[in-house]
Amino acid sequence: MDVTELLDGLNPAQREAVAAEPGNALVLAGAGSGKTRVLVHRIAWLIRAEGFSPQSLLAVTFTNKAAKEMRGRTESMLGLSTHGFWVGTFHGLAHRLLKAHWREAGLQQNFQILDSDDQLRLVKRIVKELGLDDGRWPPKQIQGFVNAQKDEGLRAKHIDAGGDFYLQTMVKAYTAYEEACERSSLVDFAELLLRAHELWLNQPTLLKHYQNRFRHILVDEFQDTNTVQYAWLRVLAGTQIPVMAVGDDDQSIYGWRGAKIENIQRFSQDFSDTQTIRLEQNYRSTQTILKAANGVIDNNFGRLGKDLWTEGDEGEKIDLYAGFNEHDEARFIVDRIDAWHRDGNPRASVAVLYRSNAQSRVLEEAFLRADIPYRIYGGQRFYERLEIRNALSYMRLVHNRNDDAAFERVINTPTRGIGAKTIETLRAVARDHSQSLWQSAIQLCGSGLPARASSALQGFLSLIETLDEQTDGLALGELTDHVVERSGLIAFHQKEKGERGQARVENLQELVVAAGQFRADDESITPLQQFLDNAALDAGEGQAEDFEDSVQLMTLHSAKGLEFPLVFLAGMEEGLFPHQMSSQDPTRLEEERRLCYVGITRAMQKLVLTYAETRRMHGSENYNAISRFVREIPDTCLQEVRLQSTVTQPVSRVTQNVAVPDANVSLGQRVYHQIFGEGMVVNFEGRGSHARVEVNFDTEGTKWLVLHYANLQSI
Ligand code: ATP
Ligand code: MG
Repeated sequence: MDVTELLDGLNPAQREAVAAEPGNALVLAGAGSGKTRVLVHRIAWLIRAEGFSPQSLLAVTFTNKAAKEMRGRTESMLGLSTHGFWVGTFHGLAHRLLKAHWREAGLQQNFQILDSDDQLRLVKRIVKELGLDDGRWPPKQIQGFVNAQKDEGLRAKHIDAGGDFYLQTMVKAYTAYEEACERSSLVDFAELLLRAHELWLNQPTLLKHYQNRFRHILVDEFQDTNTVQYAWLRVLAGTQIPVMAVGDDDQSIYGWRGAKIENIQRFSQDFSDTQTIRLEQNYRSTQTILKAANGVIDNNFGRLGKDLWTEGDEGEKIDLYAGFNEHDEARFIVDRIDAWHRDGNPRASVAVLYRSNAQSRVLEEAFLRADIPYRIYGGQRFYERLEIRNALSYMRLVHNRNDDAAFERVINTPTRGIGAKTIETLRAVARDHSQSLWQSAIQLCGSGLPARASSALQGFLSLIETLDEQTDGLALGELTDHVVERSGLIAFHQKEKGERGQARVENLQELVVAAGQFRADDESITPLQQFLDNAALDAGEGQAEDFEDSVQLMTLHSAKGLEFPLVFLAGMEEGLFPHQMSSQDPTRLEEERRLCYVGITRAMQKLVLTYAETRRMHGSENYNAISRFVREIPDTCLQEVRLQSTVTQPVSRVTQNVAVPDANVSLGQRVYHQIFGEGMVVNFEGRGSHARVEVNFDTEGTKWLVLHYANLQSI
């Protein structure tokens, strides 16, 4: 593309932003108005029209996936490689800086990223060491406290607890946590940001270096930056580097993770001579969808206020479906997607969005049963699966013996006769000598342990040493293959019964594939280290690439920035959405409403809302009212599609392919079982003696029963 083409396909306001004179700029605009598109064109414009080199640009996105897309789109527009262009999430960029300047940041070269699971494990250990009662001081709460302080840029030493006993204890735990991380060279997610910020503050020469390098900074999804990210950005930009930030106050949905919507307002004050540009034309959705979105968000107060209009069609009405329970809801969604696909649309054009991760299970089951391929986007995290984390822990130990989190994870996995008592002893020694578990294990092996424990431990230590020796010089894929085999993990899961063990083995094999395909791009760090860091950073969103045409399932939070022709919002019920924890608190309720606005505005052509009249949640049957957000949508935009639904439609679908095994039982019917008591039939499958029914029992939850043996009585 030549220079003028970079402005083609943009409206006047977008052009103004793309071709703006150097200076601070805030692009404030609603969903689907082309903010992300403007950023991509701006980057291309700066390179092509203004002659900046890719190395002199820094762009911040909200996910690693978005960063990849941004680089890809820029490269295809310019037809050249953008090597040296820094684009990533705040976390990714901070990590990169800390890797390059570990010494200045006060870290060891081989520091490890501590993900939230490992973090919790470490906090639990600290609670124990400090002799705190974990009922009164729940480790999760301490973890939340530590992260919240870090998000605000505060270390333990900065907090003045005064005479407040609660705060004193929290600070004590925070201090102990900081020391433990220091000892093992562990860096949690919030720490990445905090260290990167401190790097600027403590190393003026380094800061100057980057201030000379970067000539422009661009930030997407600016409304979800937290205090420390904002501070990092502000120090880096100083008075010289122009920043273009794009965002939408109505889409700020990470307040619970420390994001500060106020940063949008602060921007114009803190960054001099900020030019504010508003984009008002929406290119994504139909008029009906926009009207619905506006109807909902109108109920929030203190908005910056934006008008959004579209030249697009009025479009179809929004469907509203009431399932009689969550299984019926899921079945309806599956049916509609099936029909959409049969009409010639790809499955990948559909997204099913929900408020809570736990909702995915029932949906997944429905997709599996109907044999419709689906993917969980950002949810069922490949790198967070147990077997993968175990394998990675072995690799981490091979790389760094002093990685305590990894050590604890696999010291007795697969089981090798090292008991809780031995581990307890190791911890005590590590604590007393301020050393790692590995060092303590070496110390204890000769003496200080019963003979059996000692030889089991010795076995583990030599296993790791041997793995290290044997994999020396191997390519990453081979190394991984070697580790998953020799560690005994594959054999361990092969012995597990049923499909789960099989799935775990497959996942481990998939890890070997992933490692083999991994491309290390930084010569200063070993490929193994890069792979491990990548796995930790990607855990939040990564999933092995999958080219099968599949429906996308995801939480509303992870749908940010994305768009799909057909979108389902499932579980539109009070208590679920808005979440019950938020419905009483006006601030949190407004954040839930913004989340709803994000959800609605993901839809391009068609939006379908569903809810269940009864839903099993946290072990009990709930009769939730329809979500207030549905009521906030203007009536003229909605149509109920109740009739084609519930009992009749799913039954006829089942009876088409499957003989109804017992005329006494039908979907939705109440039945009695001798052991499980009363319940409702919600599903059935199979034929003849294989026929099974799924019954949602009032007290026992849902169960699949073989009809032939169940002896159900209708009531
Ligand atoms: P969100 O707030 O959801 O992140 P956004 O403001 O970043 O949305 P984009 O994703 O950049 O919006 O754009 C929304 C859609 O509109 C995209 O498909 C984009 O290609 C298209 N689009 C943006 N501007 C134009 C334009 N001037 N002409 C045609 N299509 C456009
Ligand atoms: Mg966007």
